[in-house]
Amino acid sequence: KEKNSMETFEKHESQVRSYSRSFPKMFNKAKGHKIWDTDGKEYIDFFAGAGALNYGHNDDKMKEKIVEYIMEDGISHSLDMGTVVRAKFLEKFSEVILKPRKLDYKVMFPGPTGTNTVESALKIARKVTGRTNIISFTNAFHGMTLGSLSVTGNSFNRDGAGVPLNNTVPMPYETFMDDDNSLDFLKSYLSDTGSGLDLPAAIILETVQGEGGINAASFEWLQEIEKLCRRYDMLLIVDDVQAGCGRTGTFFSFEPAGVKPDIVCLSKSIGGYGLPMAITLIKPEHDIWEPGEHNGTFRGNNMAIVAATEALTYWENDKLANSIQEKSKVIKTRFEKIVKDYPELNATTRGRGFMRGIACGEGKEDYAGKICEKAFEKGLIIETAGPSGEVVKFLGPLTIDNEGLNKGLDILEEAIEEVLN
Ligand code: PMP
Repeated sequence: KEKNSMETFEKHESQVRSYSRSFPKMFNKAKGHKIWDTDGKEYIDFFAGAGALNYGHNDDKMKEKIVEYIMEDGISHSLDMGTVVRAKFLEKFSEVILKPRKLDYKVMFPGPTGTNTVESALKIARKVTGRTNIISFTNAFHGMTLGSLSVTGNSFNRDGAGVPLNNTVPMPYETFMDDDNSLDFLKSYLSDTGSGLDLPAAIILETVQGEGGINAASFEWLQEIEKLCRRYDMLLIVDDVQAGCGRTGTFFSFEPAGVKPDIVCLSKSIGGYGLPMAITLIKPEHDIWEPGEHNGTFRGNNMAIVAATEALTYWENDKLANSIQEKSKVIKTRFEKIVKDYPELNATTRGRGFMRGIACGEGKEDYAGKICEKAFEKGLIIETAGPSGEVVKFLGPLTIDNEGLNKGLDILEEAIEEVLN
């Protein structure tokens, strides 16, 4: 057993670049909602791979399927060749996810990451409409490649590109302004054809902004955005990379709003087991790429596809969805109580389903980071979000049991208590 987690971490840290120091330990084992460092200390995971582990670490069924596949010499990597397991995934995705929701999409494999699916969505929107610009929102997060970064509303991340990024029309997200002005702003902009505006190809949005600070758009706002897309022939791209795969309580985050995006981006938990995978859902009439016009070496990771197929089993009945609804009430109630019991934080709470935040108020932003740091010391992994890192962000696995959930929430509250006293 490797000893002294902290010492090894420091050595490791000096060898890698651009790495996070939020969780300064070495980890080597994880199961469900728990993860252990090399000193054997147990942590509850309220971060879940930034939403890539909606079903927790090392789900037994998925593990069994992957191991079985490897032992049978199943094809590990196959680019865009047809494989039996990929066909099975497509069939199950259609049966379990698309058909019951009356959604008619073609499934594209854009590359293994969230950035890849966003990039493919932006390209399709431009090619289909013959337009260049994309409307995106303040505090949005869509990825780190040039296209996806150009629609990301975070100056720190944008600075990583060195020079300004093009072709984006930034707009205030609903929660950015106090009343309905954000929609009016957007409407005025789009109707201002007199100034020679080039109409945008698409609007890209997260229904709940994850990295941007758990800003949840109202269903009315989403519906109005959809109407604007129809009126101006723009495509509606919903980036469900973080909010999708059940995170907000339904498989797709946009379901309860009743909107039907033209393009849906999924990654993170679509692979189920934490293996890299992404899919882009497009309307059949937008399937205009020639084979290979958009490609990528790691589009055919069959191990991820095997796990992803098994993960869909969670959606064959309402069991998981119901339990998310129930447990999310527990989280919401607890967060509301925390906000009330600790007025020093001047905080508000927001979010949907298993995507919730405690946003520390003006002048109190630094508390969020301190709380997460303290929580980590006490055995809870939880991260901050928001433009100033002012939001304590809950992103626990959807499969967490009541005991784990309550224990994690207790640790969080103890951490707040200690930070404030
Ligand atoms: N879109 C959203 C909404 C995300 O949260 C993320 C990752 N945090 C991405 C895109 C990019 O995904 P990836 O890191 O896999 O490229």
